Amino acid sequence: MNKTRVPLLIIGAGPVGLLTALKASSENIPTLIVEGREYAGGQLTELYPEKDITDIPGIELIKAKDYIALLLKQIASKKDAISFLFGHKVTAINYKNSPIEIKLDDETNILADDVVIATGLGVYRPRPMGILDEDKYQAIRYSLKDYQFLTDKRVIVLGGGDSAIDWADMCSKVTNKVALIHRRNEFRGNILTLKNNHIVKILTPYVPYRLIGEGGKLTALEIQNVETKEIEQLPVDYIMVNYGNIPLSDNFGLPKLGIGIECSNGFKIANHLYAAGDIAGYEGKIRRLAPALKEIETIIKEIKSSL
Ligand SMILES: Cc1cc2nc3c(=O)[nH]c(=O)nc-3n(C[C@H](O)[C@H](O)[C@H](O)COP(=O)(O)OP(=O)(O)OC[C@H]3O[C@@H](n4cnc5c(N)ncnc54)[C@H](O)[C@@H]3O)c2cc1C
Repeated sequence: MNKTRVPLLIIGAGPVGLLTALKASSENIPTLIVEGREYAGGQLTELYPEKDITDIPGIELIKAKDYIALLLKQIASKKDAISFLFGHKVTAINYKNSPIEIKLDDETNILADDVVIATGLGVYRPRPMGILDEDKYQAIRYSLKDYQFLTDKRVIVLGGGDSAIDWADMCSKVTNKVALIHRRNEFRGNILTLKNNHIVKILTPYVPYRLIGEGGKLTALEIQNVETKEIEQLPVDYIMVNYGNIPLSDNFGLPKLGIGIECSNGFKIANHLYAAGDIAGYEGKIRRLAPALKEIETIIKEIKSSL
């Protein structure tokens, strides 16, 4: 595979990488997608496959995993134009020369006329609770790939963002014992999501304080009120930690803007090098799928016009 040359190389097979490849194929631009994991889907597969997505234009409601399956089905029908290289992380991008040279973690190189970086959150590690013995209990989870195992269990969700709120909402579909705990009284995410949810008990401002269990079996979580310092004990079967991820994506040595790679309004980083999706950094960037569609459209139009 040394020095393969492709017209368009996309780094990352998350939803944005897949959508970019589909758009490129509609313009007859053959594409290779390089993905660090062994499968596609990015955050949708990894973090919230069971979540209902309701804000994709043209689709009323779809589970995250079904949306990825839909994109992959569409891609399968264009297999002459779109190919994948799974299980290979891109480690360096040499964009000073044309074609651009991409280096993989097995030291092989690929040459590409154009490159779209769609690495999203990158290959991340979930942020832990940071309390003693956290690593001793299987019942502490950092992603919610499936939630049937939580049926009738006592569940505590920790976090204050949209994903923690979504998780609490999802858990309440299979159990009526769900608590959502956040260290501030105000949530970063849209707490109105839970407005009509009479199952999730919201507890603020609390932080996890101490785990209680024996022989690897978790039985309770002590939480501390941030203001009064009082400690309370909550019986629990599973703790779902949603404190975000560390570290954020690799920027390949390119200039950063916030958590993304700095790019122009045309989502261009340099000649023939672009960023789309969560990794794109520009003024007013919104990290959702719908805004990425405009990025993809602009990028493919620019690539097409430069051919
Ligand atoms: C809990 C939660 C709920 C959400 N709900 C919604 C919602 O309802 N609606 C919505 O629009 N958005 C939602 N989002 C945001 C949405 O998931 C992101 O905007 C979207 O996943 C961004 O897609 P992406 O392809 O840019 O990045 P990602 O999904 O992060 O995919 C990036 C891919 O690139 C790969 N990669 C990274 N680095 C490398 C490398 N060096 N080499 C090769 N491969 C690499 C990764 O393995 C990954 O597969 C939600 C996010 C979370 C966390």
